[in-house]
Amino acid sequence: MSKAEAIASSDFPKTRAALSSETWAHVVALEEGFAHKGHVEIAAHGGPDRGARCDYDVALAGGGLSLLYAAWLARAGLKVVVFDRGKIGCGHREWNISRRELQPLAESGLFSAAEVAALVLKEYRSGIIRWHGGGTYPVRHVLDCVVNAEWLLDQLRARAEAAGATLLDHHALAGYRVGAGGVEVRLPSERGRTLTARLLVDGMGASSPHAAFDLCCPTVGGVLGGLDEGPGVREVDPEIGEILVTTEGIEEERQHIWEGFPAPGGRFTTYLFYYTEPAQLGPHPLLALYERFFATRPRYKSGDARLEKPTYGFIPAYSRLRPMPSAPRDRVILVGDAAGRHSPLTFCGFGSMIRSFLPVAEALRERLARDTLDARALSSVWSEPPALSVMGGLTLMMVEGRGRKGRDPADVNRLLDAAFASLAELGDETYASFVRDEIGFRDFIAFMRKTAARRPTIYDDVFAQLSAAEIARWTLRLAKLGFTKWSTGSR
Ligand SMILES: Cc1cc2nc3c(=O)[nH]c(=O)nc-3n(C[C@H](O)[C@H](O)[C@H](O)COP(=O)(O)OP(=O)(O)OC[C@H]3O[C@@H](n4cnc5c(N)ncnc54)[C@H](O)[C@@H]3O)c2cc1C
Repeated sequence: MSKAEAIASSDFPKTRAALSSETWAHVVALEEGFAHKGHVEIAAHGGPDRGARCDYDVALAGGGLSLLYAAWLARAGLKVVVFDRGKIGCGHREWNISRRELQPLAESGLFSAAEVAALVLKEYRSGIIRWHGGGTYPVRHVLDCVVNAEWLLDQLRARAEAAGATLLDHHALAGYRVGAGGVEVRLPSERGRTLTARLLVDGMGASSPHAAFDLCCPTVGGVLGGLDEGPGVREVDPEIGEILVTTEGIEEERQHIWEGFPAPGGRFTTYLFYYTEPAQLGPHPLLALYERFFATRPRYKSGDARLEKPTYGFIPAYSRLRPMPSAPRDRVILVGDAAGRHSPLTFCGFGSMIRSFLPVAEALRERLARDTLDARALSSVWSEPPALSVMGGLTLMMVEGRGRKGRDPADVNRLLDAAFASLAELGDETYASFVRDEIGFRDFIAFMRKTAARRPTIYDDVFAQLSAAEIARWTLRLAKLGFTKWSTGSR
């Protein structure tokens, strides 16, 4: 009997009824993979020697959105191989982003401007953020475009292949050995296989053996049909995206949050998630969250809902208050969710990848040309937007088990309401740039001051959730941010 079949039939009855057996099994496999990452044997020695001729310039482990790198580097004339434990370019996601953020796809030359325009299946007028017992805060140009995720991944696969990349479906990474001249990668297939590359790019997402995330968002939901349309808060307005919405306070020790985006054909992509630390996840976190999704969805939107396309997963992130790997070894670099470069507050990994892949790919091409592929040189391929380094403190306040005992269930909503009322007061540009991870230092300080004026205990509350080491790191990062701003004259 498989693990998926072994779950008692009385457990998660609503979920069992709504998901196909194939999707059920995939959810269980994802949970299993997140809890016990497949064993990958890693050795810092024993790989190709200096001057060795490698089979490939670049080996990309994981063919999800990281295919952007494969397609771009292969077009740049490098010899690329991609392998994935499943089928390459096969996502089960729905992505939202703003139109402006898609520009790097055209700037990279991978897609024409017309193709990028056509990638947007639907664009709506504006978005809102609404906190239970608090206000509703509209914002424009944030997550307001629905992307054709399947087409994007299909095309990245086709374009990588057309540019000469070798694609190996159903090849999981079993181990690798680093040497002065490259990396030897072991892929157990029926016949067993090894290959060598000058650079290993780890795009294995949350399953990366290097992942050491201290935050994650279990997220479930999908594309729903049958919801009521109208102007009420429990109805769907096809011109409004709902970026973050709560319908109650802390329940089961968690603050659950809804997201809802109008999709083509009158449908509504709806997610339920919560912030947590991976160590706090209980058994079957996705199935348990799906069960809550089906039970509490009417609190969020009314109607006779049908789940037409389930989408789910663990979105990982780094609070930046503990060490965060970037290039864990010489000749090995992390990208995409494996690198966790996105905001620890918004968790927009798709947006972050689209924003970062071009400068990172260009820097990798340059490092490959000079053969400067030590961990230090690889770590410097990306410098992240400054505000990301200080947002983790806010997220940790929403994590279960962090000083939550005896806390008022309305506390997280009140905190978020104070934060977003302040952002809204700072104007659409600042508010939108905060949600898109682009806020500058001066605006961030203005945001912190406004929020503190609204809720004087906020920093005591934040610090009460953090350890002494985390507070020291947070303060250091804030000081560094101020210094960078002062020395560069940036905002
Ligand atoms: C439900 C949901 C909704 C989301 N919505 C949005 C959104 O609207 N906007 C946004 O900005 N972001 C969104 N995200 C986040 C976004 O989807 C991710 O950040 C992005 O897909 C990460 O891509 P990736 O290629 O790095 O990782 P993944 O998509 O996780 O791909 C990793 C790949 O590695 C392969 N792999 C794993 N282990 C191995 C191994 N040992 N050997 C070989 N291959 C392996 C896997 O099979 C997979 O193909 C959402 C995420 C979820 C879960």
